[in-house]
Amino acid sequence: MLKFLMAERVQITVAKSAGFCPGVKNAIDKVLELAKHSKKTIYTLGPLIHNKQVIETLKEQNIRAVNSVAEIKDKNAILVLRAHGIPPEEEAAIRALDLEVVDATCPLVKHVQENIRAHAKKGYSTIIVGDRDHAEVLGLMGYTEGRGYVVSGPEEVKKLPPFKKANIVAQTTQEEDIFLAAAEEARKIAGELAVSNTICNPTRQRQKETVKFAKKSDLVIVVGGKNSANTARLFQICERLAKKAVHIEREDELKKSFFKGASKIFITAGASTPTWMTEKVLAKARELAGSKISIKRRNPR
Ligand code: SF4
Repeated sequence: MLKFLMAERVQITVAKSAGFCPGVKNAIDKVLELAKHSKKTIYTLGPLIHNKQVIETLKEQNIRAVNSVAEIKDKNAILVLRAHGIPPEEEAAIRALDLEVVDATCPLVKHVQENIRAHAKKGYSTIIVGDRDHAEVLGLMGYTEGRGYVVSGPEEVKKLPPFKKANIVAQTTQEEDIFLAAAEEARKIAGELAVSNTICNPTRQRQKETVKFAKKSDLVIVVGGKNSANTARLFQICERLAKKAVHIEREDELKKSFFKGASKIFITAGASTPTWMTEKVLAKARELAGSKISIKRRNPR
C-alpha cells in the first residue's frame, strides 16, 4: 500500500472568481424563469453551458438542447439563444420561423459582435484570436462580412495574408498574453491595425486571480467541464505556474496522492461551473488533504 506524507498544516483557498460568470448566470436564470412560468417546451440552441452536471439538471426540468431548429417538431415551443451568440443570418432565419425566441446572448458578446460589425462596415478585415470551433467564434465570424480569420495565437498570425486594414479582436475568454502577442504580430502584416481587446472583464478578473494564486500554490484544483474552453484555459495557466495542477469535473476524481506534501491549495473554477460543484470539491479536498486545515474563501457566497 502506498503511503503519502501529508502536509502538517494545510490552507485551502477558494477563488473569489470561481463559478458562473454574469453571462452564464443570466442565461441560466432566464431559462429557469421560463420553465417556471411557461407551459411551452423549452429548447436551447446547443447546450446552454459546457457543464454536463448542469445540463442534466436542466433536462430534469424539461429544458432540452438541440443542435438545429430542424430538430424542433413541436410548434408550441420556446427557443433560447445561449450566451455565446449566433451569426446574424442564422438569427434572422430563426426569427422568421413560427417560434418564440428568447435571446440570452451575453451583452459582452454582443459588444464584440457590434465592434466587428462596425469595423467591417468601414472595410476592415477581422482577425479573431480564439478557438476556431467554439460557438462564440462561429457567431462572431458571421459579423465579419466574409473577411474574417481565426487564429489561436501569434504563430498563426504569421501565416495570414497581408492586410490593408485589419481589426484584431479576442474571443471573450481568451488569455490576455496570447491576444497581445497576436496583436504584435498582426502589426507586421497590416497597413492599419485596430486592436480591440475584447476579453471580457469577468474573464480578466478570473485569470488575474488565478495567476496570482497559482504562483504561490503547491496544488491548484481547477473545477469545470472537460468540454469548457475557458476552464481548459484556466488549467493551462495553472499547469504553467503552480507546482501541480489538476482539472476535474467532479469531486470523486480527487485522489489522496494529489495532496502529498501540499500545504497551499487553491481551488478555482470555470465560468460554467456551478457553485454547488465547487463546494462538493472543497468538502472532498478537506477530507483528503490532512488534519490541520484552514479554509479561506476569497468571496463567501
Ligand atoms: S465569459 Fe464573459 S462574455 Fe462570455 S458569457 Fe461570461 S461574462 Fe459573457
